Amino acid sequence: MTNKYKYFVANWKMFGDIKSVNSINKVIKISRMKNFNKSKIIYCPPYTLLDKFVRKLKKTNIQVGAQNCHQSSFSGPFTGFINSKMIKNLGCNYVIIGHSESRNVGETDLLINKKIKSSIENNLKIIFCIGESLNEKKRKKTKIILSNQLKKGLKNIKNIKNTIIAYEPIWSIGTGVVPKNKELLNNILFIKNFLRKNFKNSKPKVLYGGSVSPKNVKNLVKINQIDGFLVGGASQNSNKFIDIIKKTFN
Ligand code: PEP
Repeated sequence: MTNKYKYFVANWKMFGDIKSVNSINKVIKISRMKNFNKSKIIYCPPYTLLDKFVRKLKKTNIQVGAQNCHQSSFSGPFTGFINSKMIKNLGCNYVIIGHSESRNVGETDLLINKKIKSSIENNLKIIFCIGESLNEKKRKKTKIILSNQLKKGLKNIKNIKNTIIAYEPIWSIGTGVVPKNKELLNNILFIKNFLRKNFKNSKPKVLYGGSVSPKNVKNLVKINQIDGFLVGGASQNSNKFIDIIKKTFN
C-alpha cells in the first residue's frame, strides 16, 4: 500500500486506431474513484490520436502527452515532424523525450537536449527516458551511461521542476525481464542523487519503465523510491493497465 502520488504513463507506441480510443473508458471510470486519487495517469498515444484523446479526457484528471517532438520551437520546413509548441497548442501537457526506440533511429543526446529545452519553453512537462543496454550492463557501465545521458540531455538547463526521469533499462523494454529490486533501487537512487547534486532544490521524480505488468507491479511497488511507471505493452490493454494501478495502491 502506498500513500504517495504515483505516475502511470501509458505509452501506446505505434499502436492504436480510432476505435481503440473508447477502450480507455474503463480507465476514466477508475480514475474518478477515491481509492485512486493519488494516481496521475498520462496517456501518450500516437500523434494521430492526440486530438481525440485531448477531447475525450477534457473533463477528467487524466493528462495527455506526445511520444516525441521536433527540436525547433519555430514552425519551418520540417516535413513529417511536429514541435512542442504544436503539441501544447493541441491541449497536451506532456511529452516523452529520449525513448530508446527514438534513440535507436538516430536521436542523439544533443538532439534530446534541444527537444527538452524547446519543450520547457513551451510549458510542456517532460518524461525524459534514460537507460543502459544489456551489453553496457554486462560491462558494468550502467552508472556511467546514466550520468552521461543525464549530463548531456540536461545540459544548460537550470530548472528541472517539470522534468520527470523515466529509468528504462533497454534490456527490460518489451522483453518481460525486469531488474532485481536491489539493482533497481540502486539505479533509481543514483539518478535521484545525481539530480539533487546538480539541480539544487529539486525534488526529483523517477519512474521505472520496462515490462511492467499486473504480475510484477506489486513487487516493484515495494521500492518506495519509484514515483510511478512508464508502461508500454500492458497500457494498450485497459484491463491490464487498471490492474497495474489497482495493485499499486492495494
Ligand atoms: C516503453 O515503451 O517505454 C516500455 C517500457 O514498454 P514495455 O512496458 O512494453 O516494456
